[in-house]
Amino acid sequence: MKDKNFLMIPGPTPVPESVLLAMAKHPIGHRSSEFSKILEEVYANLKYVFQTENDVFMFASSGTGAMDAAISNLVNEGDDVLSLVLGNFGNRWAKIAAGYGANVDKITVNAGEVINPEDVKNKLAEKKYKIVTLTHSETSTGAKNDVKTICQIIRDAGSISVVDGVTSVSAMDVKPDEWGIDVLVSGSQKGFMIPPGLAFLTANERAWKVHEECKHPSFYFSWDAHRKSVRENSTPYTAAVNLIFALQEALRRIKEEGLENIFARHERLALGLRHSLRAMGLELLVKDDKNASYSITSVLPPEGISVPDIRSHMTKDFDIVVANGQNELKDKIFRMGTLGFVSDRDLLTAVSSLETVLARLGYKFDVGIGTKTAIEWLNK
Ligand SMILES: *Cc1c(COP(=O)(O)O)cnc(C)c1O
Repeated sequence: MKDKNFLMIPGPTPVPESVLLAMAKHPIGHRSSEFSKILEEVYANLKYVFQTENDVFMFASSGTGAMDAAISNLVNEGDDVLSLVLGNFGNRWAKIAAGYGANVDKITVNAGEVINPEDVKNKLAEKKYKIVTLTHSETSTGAKNDVKTICQIIRDAGSISVVDGVTSVSAMDVKPDEWGIDVLVSGSQKGFMIPPGLAFLTANERAWKVHEECKHPSFYFSWDAHRKSVRENSTPYTAAVNLIFALQEALRRIKEEGLENIFARHERLALGLRHSLRAMGLELLVKDDKNASYSITSVLPPEGISVPDIRSHMTKDFDIVVANGQNELKDKIFRMGTLGFVSDRDLLTAVSSLETVLARLGYKFDVGIGTKTAIEWLNK
């Protein structure tokens, strides 16, 4: 049905009406005092969402722009970088670092698994790395790294931790100051409930020291230019004015709901989804709930039923868009997002729609058991 689309992909995610309406205005001058006041509020609220006392920079780019902004401000040719890889997005860090001439080593795990902190400790004892990159919530698999433990190990070894929080910041607890994360990035079209086009980065004093030795930092993603601008409630270049109107409203909503409540909501929805899918006899790519991201869940299709059939029926019959697997996981899994502007009603809708689709496609199971499980979970 027209205008009934429910994006259950891990980005772009659904956008609340008040956020859409905030954007539906003529742009204003990005050097005006009116815009500067908006930026003052936005920069302060970004610190709240990032749970940091440090400045949070904002770029007009997708999330990968912030990843580029991290590496291009830290790495010199020949630097040793260790990338902890759970999947596609973890590997993206390695590719960016190699692109800037770093010598990149990796610790890679199978799809659905997470990094064992002991392996990081051993690797860092063998060799000194300037930077260690990792992903908090690996969107390609739905696995979640123990960022707190791993970043402590990285700090003890004297390296700088660079963390992708694109599908964790504003959805799952991540405390850069308390956990010792040196650089943390995120993007707008995931937990922030606004359309694609903005990315965020925060860096601490340890990271800035390394940055000072960076010989050819990026111009567009310049940390120095952005720090100066944040402190003047401005932006270095033309701001994505209308997206920032949207962000202002989204951040107000986030503050109103409260981070703790938002984290609890994501946990409730993701675990409710996992229990319901298991009750339907489906296999999950991430086996152990404690390693599961609360923003994205990867599901294996039942024997004899294809991922493209499931996805196309979900879209055609129910206007629900679920994601395919990426790269070698394409058509092997489908991924369901519970990220951002998602509620209990959406969980019930998604589970019962999926049950209907699987029954239509001929999967033999106790039809209704997933929805029953979801109801019991929500009423617990
Ligand atoms: C979406 C995403 C990114 C950034 O992707 P863009 O398409 O550049 O926004 C990076 N890391 C993770 C874990 C993501 O989910």
